[in-house]
Amino acid sequence: MKILVADDSKTTRALITESLKRLGHEVIPASSGHEAVELFQSSRPDLIILDVIMEEMDGFECARRIRALDANNWVPIIFLSGAVDDENIAKGINAGGDDYLTKPFSEITLSAKIKAMQRISDMQHQLFEATQKLSALSSTDALTGVYNRLQFDRTIKEKIYYSNRYNKLLALLFIDLDNFKMINDSLGHYVGDLLLNEFAKRLKSCLRLDDFIARIGGDEFAIILSEIDSPEMAGEVAKKIINVLSMSYHLAGHDLQMSSSIGIACYPSPDTDQENWVQNADIAMYHAKELGRNNFQYFTVDLNEQHKQQVNLEQSLKSALDKQELFLAYQPILNLKAKKMVRMEVLCCWKHPEQGIISPNIFIPLAEELGLIDVIGRWVLQSACNQAKEWFDAGYKNFKMSVNLSPRQLLQKDLPRLIDEMLGRAHIPARLLELELTETSALIYSHFSEDVLNKIHDIGVGIALDDFGTGYSSLTHLKRLPISTIKIDKLFIQDIIVDSNSAMIVKSVIALGNNLGFDVIAEGIETAEQLQFLIDNNCALGQGFYLYQPLSQIQMTDLLKECKEGKSMLAK
Ligand code: C2E
Ligand code: MG
Ligand code: MG
Repeated sequence: MKILVADDSKTTRALITESLKRLGHEVIPASSGHEAVELFQSSRPDLIILDVIMEEMDGFECARRIRALDANNWVPIIFLSGAVDDENIAKGINAGGDDYLTKPFSEITLSAKIKAMQRISDMQHQLFEATQKLSALSSTDALTGVYNRLQFDRTIKEKIYYSNRYNKLLALLFIDLDNFKMINDSLGHYVGDLLLNEFAKRLKSCLRLDDFIARIGGDEFAIILSEIDSPEMAGEVAKKIINVLSMSYHLAGHDLQMSSSIGIACYPSPDTDQENWVQNADIAMYHAKELGRNNFQYFTVDLNEQHKQQVNLEQSLKSALDKQELFLAYQPILNLKAKKMVRMEVLCCWKHPEQGIISPNIFIPLAEELGLIDVIGRWVLQSACNQAKEWFDAGYKNFKMSVNLSPRQLLQKDLPRLIDEMLGRAHIPARLLELELTETSALIYSHFSEDVLNKIHDIGVGIALDDFGTGYSSLTHLKRLPISTIKIDKLFIQDIIVDSNSAMIVKSVIALGNNLGFDVIAEGIETAEQLQFLIDNNCALGQGFYLYQPLSQIQMTDLLKECKEGKSMLAK
């Protein structure tokens, strides 16, 4: 042990030093209280022996000063005194001492007291380490090793104080992994955990050492940037994060492509105070998600208003189905050459009591987010089957009905059975039904939806690839999936007359699709020129406002009737 001995008597000092050395300890001698305080700081002893009576500063005062220096670093103190009475003992303990040794002392007593002190000291160190570990545990996230929500809440308060005091601009970034729930549900929590870990690692690699990062929810992370010159700097960091996080992940034999959405709120800023800072970053993050994910957004006052409306919309969507506000529309799909309706697409619409008709482009993603899509999707399928039965029984037997499917629905393992049952109950042939799947979802989720799609295909239900051209898939790659139809996205069709690139793309997709044996449908035909172009280039099928708007159930019944009677199928 390293023992600091303070005694102003040279003889006693030498005596103790000799004894201690004999007992195998290292000695740091001090000839006064002042020197002892200094040596305590510079040489960090394991034990201190203080003579009570010293000139200038007595042992008690010396102990008091040592104790005041470092509350965390407890070192045992033994007083050395000629007379030990009750009053002295009390004084010593009050000053921070731990034991007494009377002069003259025996070496055996000295050794025993040191051993006892050492034991206490060891225990004290263990306790200190355990406390440190516990405090680290209570502030870190066990899975990723970054800080947790608790520490985030504490740090936010500290940072606000720091910003107010030193007039610093701070940025809070809320980062959410897009579609993480899907990975967790389909590939299991093990892969989900690996992904979160890798995600946290990559996030850290984008930051400086003094930036703060925490996981504050399942797949939600928060970052506080402490020293930024302008809000734009936070945007630069967000850009970097989005890029790094979108690089592919190789986890447990799976190749995953992920994206993230980031919301940024700076403090202080005109719309952000200490009460709403966190909430504003969250609102900005939701806005990024609404804008199609894989992007970052700053908080603005307008967003706050939008957010309130969004919350209202969410509330009313939850009850829309029960209140029978959802209904189906049917858009005819024509054989373009024969100008004859051969199929129809079922579109789900929402008649909001105050806001009127709300586009599925708005409420379907919302339903996905809120976990309502399974129920809504099932309702659409069931209603479509019921309607198909009605028409089929009325004698209209040669049409195909396409129903849009959300990627989430593919995760329902019992979807094929459900569809089979619906068809069985309605007594309609499976060939009447086709399911539309967007290209991006088919591609991203192909590894876990393949099985479900194959089963649906085995039932005899067709599968169409919707919005083709917006993803990055090649037709040959998609050949793996049991797809029967591809629908060229309306963005390309709208440009075929004015943009030679779009024209080229559409021409080649039609040619390739025809060669590979897919039915090819052009979406969004709005002009006679577009229609002619498609006919000239052998696109067999098409839909669009130029041909028909989506129709109500009554209008569609009339059209089916006309169709059967062999009347012209073109509205114009
Ligand atoms: P989608 O599957 O690509 O459906 C075609 C959309 O294009 C429909 O929009 C339709 O009204 C619109 N459209 C048709 N012809 C034209 C045209 O000539 N020009 C233009 N600009 N648009 C045209 P809608 O009804 O707003 O549906 C939007 C999207 O919402 C659908 O795109 C589909 O992805 C989704 N959706 C609709 N119903 C459902 C549903 O029941 N379930 C799911 N999961 N998604 C649905
Ligand atoms: Mg569709
Ligand atoms: Mg489409």
